Amino acid sequence: METALAELHSQFDIDGYIEALPRHVLGLPRSNAPPRYQVSRFPLLKPYNGFTGIERRRGGHLAGWLLAAGCIRLASKCNICGSSGPLSLHGDVYYDISRDPTLCQPCHRAIHLRFYRWDEWRKVVDASAVTGREWFAQIPPHSIDIAQHLRDRWGWHAADLERSPICPFPDAIAEVLPNNMLPHPNL
Ligand SMILES: [Zn+2]
Repeated sequence: METALAELHSQFDIDGYIEALPRHVLGLPRSNAPPRYQVSRFPLLKPYNGFTGIERRRGGHLAGWLLAAGCIRLASKCNICGSSGPLSLHGDVYYDISRDPTLCQPCHRAIHLRFYRWDEWRKVVDASAVTGREWFAQIPPHSIDIAQHLRDRWGWHAADLERSPICPFPDAIAEVLPNNMLPHPNL
């Protein structure tokens, strides 16, 4: 059983999946970009796609700031079902915020609950997929360790969001990023 599961995991094409995710084009920060990352009062989230609660919080800091600074924008419609909202970013590859999809609340809930409610998730996918190669249609029933996959390639440097080799920021952004990101234990 363990061997079968390991085989299933190794067969999943993580690079192909990441490539299929939508991509934000980074714009220049507004002159009134926030001087601080917004500090959350909520407890850290559980790991997702191999990213720890700390890494998810760090990604949330950066994504929130990029949105507030005008460097990225929410899509006008949910990247899965096309609904116009309310919409928010879904953290998926926490080492590359530029690949965060924009999701409506029902799709966002379904994607996170899929481990327990796979049939409900597949209904969402079947109602929205056209080619079957969309990023959301590729998602397997098992969890995918995207974090480890990226560290295998980039080392812990991958986790250094503000100086990411995966999503390098132009100087105009890098120079005005706040300095209060939650520290990463491996950086
Ligand atoms: Zn949706």
